[in-house]
Amino acid sequence: MSLTLPAPVTEPELPAAPGTGPAPDPDLVDFAGHAATRLRERDGALYSLLARESARQRDTLMMVAASSVADPSVLACEGSTLGNLTAEGFPGNRYHAGCGVADEIERLAIDRACAAFGAVDAIVQPHSGSSANLAVITALLSPGDSLLGLDLDCGGHLTHGSPASVTGRYYRAHGYRVTPEGLLDYDQIRELALEHRPKLIVCGASAYPRSIDFARFREIADEANAYLLADISHIAGLVAAGLHQSPVDHAHVTTTSTYKQLYGPRGGLILLGREARRAGPERGTLAATLRRAVFPFTQGTPDLASVAAKARALDFVASPDFAELAKRLADGAQAIAERLSDRGFRLVTGGTDTHMVLLDLRGTGVTGDVAEQALESCGIVVNRNRVPGDTTPVRVTGGLRLGTNTLAARGMDHAVAAECADLVADVLMALRAQGGVLPDALRDRVRTRVSELCAAHPLPGYLP
Ligand SMILES: *Cc1c(COP(=O)(O)O)cnc(C)c1O
Repeated sequence: MSLTLPAPVTEPELPAAPGTGPAPDPDLVDFAGHAATRLRERDGALYSLLARESARQRDTLMMVAASSVADPSVLACEGSTLGNLTAEGFPGNRYHAGCGVADEIERLAIDRACAAFGAVDAIVQPHSGSSANLAVITALLSPGDSLLGLDLDCGGHLTHGSPASVTGRYYRAHGYRVTPEGLLDYDQIRELALEHRPKLIVCGASAYPRSIDFARFREIADEANAYLLADISHIAGLVAAGLHQSPVDHAHVTTTSTYKQLYGPRGGLILLGREARRAGPERGTLAATLRRAVFPFTQGTPDLASVAAKARALDFVASPDFAELAKRLADGAQAIAERLSDRGFRLVTGGTDTHMVLLDLRGTGVTGDVAEQALESCGIVVNRNRVPGDTTPVRVTGGLRLGTNTLAARGMDHAVAAECADLVADVLMALRAQGGVLPDALRDRVRTRVSELCAAHPLPGYLP
């Protein structure tokens, strides 16, 4: 097993960016191989850990909904010499010399982000989705101001006002909840907005399998005289592909992580639509306010390697191949939801409109943590998740969250996704029947089938 560059790939690759030649600069190719060889020679312990992780990813079914797999061309950007570059500031406005190439790269990333989402402006420097949210919230609110976001245990994110996050500690955070069926209740959200008059309403979620009506959220925000932040970290790919309503022109600001459904590097984006040029809460436009909020208010120097990797991922997101991938990930989630329902499992909201399926295990005698561990022992990686109304401790949980980002990237269609759901169901039903203990024979059977599926659907572009 080796971390060095794979041999040339014959399967269809990500399309080359217009205007760039098809062949990569041989210096970079040689350098990447040399760099991995050097790592192996100088630090065998670390090298073998990286190699083990590579092999693990190749041979497991990754069904964590917050996860995906970046094309090697994205990883090449992250491992490039751009990591050496310090470029404090923004394109055309840096605090030191040597940033000419950095400016071109960052402008390319901004242009591609705008193109992928039909945005007017984009900020590509946030180190993560959480950093993007922190920048937006600190830009729009003063300490002690109030915000309204989806409660964590109803599928919201920590940065939407959880007391465990600075967003719930330094701001007066109010939460809206989902109905007993697990659905957003826009009338309740409106009532809470009019009661608490938050300065900011946050929509978007980490564990919500249904589509979100951003236009309706904007109506509520306007009525309550609040800003609207749409955090599309989980569904950014569906939004870019037109398979989910886009918030970009509804919300004042849209944020996303780049490593989930955009198949990019660790990182975040801030997107602005028709509100980009409106006056911000302090001097300048909303876009200018948010740029200052990223640097210097909440971050220092940008990571240009990650910015380049975002540019690479966003070029793919705007391509026809991505539209197919997005369709496959929605179809896969439908197939998983149908198969699990058919086999008697209860799904939060009864199904899905996205890449995500939330399984409610309460009443089955199997908890989320036991299911998560048993599935991992079979090579199926998922995460335990609380479901609405869940009273089990967070480390235990009464549910599982499944997602199709990586399955779809491996080219698995709805039939294969349904088979993956069957494997999950087989394990869960055995756990239920055996008091939480997985029989070895079943584990071996599922593990073998997982390996076969992974071999038949290799990670895209990874195979030598
Ligand atoms: C994952 C997620 C984030 C955080 O992104 P990081 O890049 O991991 O910091 C923010 N918001 C939502 C809704 C998420 O699901």
